[in-house]
Amino acid sequence: MTKILDGKIFAKNLRDELTQTVSALQKEYGEVPGLAVVLVGNNPASEVYVRNKGIQTKECGMRSFEHKLPSTIQQEDLLKVIYQLNEDPEVDGILVQLPLPDQIDAQKVLDTIDPAKDVDGFHIINAGRLATGGEALVPCTPLGCLLLLKDHFGDLTGKDVVVIGRSNIVGKPMAALLIRESCTVTIAHSKSQDLKAICKRADILIAAVGRPEIITGDFIKKGAVVLDVGINRIPAPEKGEGKTKLVGDVAFEEAKLQAEAITPVPGGIGPMTIAVLLRNTIEAACRRRNWAYKL
Ligand code: NAP
Repeated sequence: MTKILDGKIFAKNLRDELTQTVSALQKEYGEVPGLAVVLVGNNPASEVYVRNKGIQTKECGMRSFEHKLPSTIQQEDLLKVIYQLNEDPEVDGILVQLPLPDQIDAQKVLDTIDPAKDVDGFHIINAGRLATGGEALVPCTPLGCLLLLKDHFGDLTGKDVVVIGRSNIVGKPMAALLIRESCTVTIAHSKSQDLKAICKRADILIAAVGRPEIITGDFIKKGAVVLDVGINRIPAPEKGEGKTKLVGDVAFEEAKLQAEAITPVPGGIGPMTIAVLLRNTIEAACRRRNWAYKL
C-alpha cells in the first residue's frame, strides 16, 4: 500500500507543537514572538494567503502585524516600512508577500530585511549561510519538504535524491538542505537531458517545476518517495463549464502505483509552508532575543 504523506495532518501537528513552544516561552520570558507581513496591492490569492498567515500566527499564540500598502507605492516608501520593521523590537519575523508590482525591485526589498528577521529565508545572507553550512533561516517550502522526509525516513544519509527545479525559493535551497543531510543530490531543470532517466534512479524525487503532471509513472523508480511541490491550476470541464482544479507536477494516480510514499496536491506540501513560517518566526525570536529554547 502506498503511503499518502498528508501535509495537512503534519502541519496541524507542527502548529500544535509550536503553540506549546510559544506558551512555554511566554511563561519563561513574559513575551511572545511577533510576525509582520507586508502586502502590497490587492492580488486576491495573496490576500487569502496573508489572511491565513495572520489567523495561524494568532492561533499559535504569537503576535501578528499586517501592513497593507497600495499597489502604487514607490520603492523608497516600501523600504521605509521595512526599515521601521527592522528596528521594531516586537517584530521577530518580516515577510514581504510576493509578487510585488513592477515599479518595485523585489530583490532590493528582500535584501533590505534584517537577515535575523528574514523568516522567508530569501535574503542573500541566509542563502549564503545555507549554501556554506552556516546557521541560516531557511525558505519555508523546502524546509517543510525536509521535515516530511525526516519524519518518514528518520536518517536520510546516502539517499539518492533528484530535485527537479533550480529556483532560489525551492530547488536550490532544497538541494542545499539535502546535502547537509548527506544525501547524493542531483538537480534537474529545463535544459537537463533525458529527465526520465535522471528521475528513474532517485530514491527520493522532488518535483518543483510548475508544469501540470509532467512527471508520469514511468519516471519513478519502484518504491521511491515522491514529493510534489508544484501547484498548477488547470481547466476541469468535468466539474462544469469554466471550472478549474489544482494539480501537481506529478501525475498522482499513476505515480502512486510506483511510489512507496507520495504527497498529494492539494493537501501535501502546500499546507506545510505556513506552519514552517511560524516555526521560522519562533526560531528567529529565540536567536534574536537570546531565548534558550531549542526547536
Ligand atoms: P520557477 O521559479 O518557475 O522554477 C521552475 C523550475 O523548473 C526551473 O528551474 C525550470 O528550469 C524547471 N523546469 C521548467 N520546465 C521544466 C521541464 N520541462 N523539465 C525540467 N525542469 C523544468 O518555480 P518555483 O517558484 O520553484 O515553483 C515551482 C512550483 O512549485 C510551482 O508550481 C509553484 O507554484 C510551486 N510552489 C509551491 C509552494 C508551496 O507549496 N507552498 C511554494 C513555492 C512554489 P530552468 O531553471 O531551466 O528554467
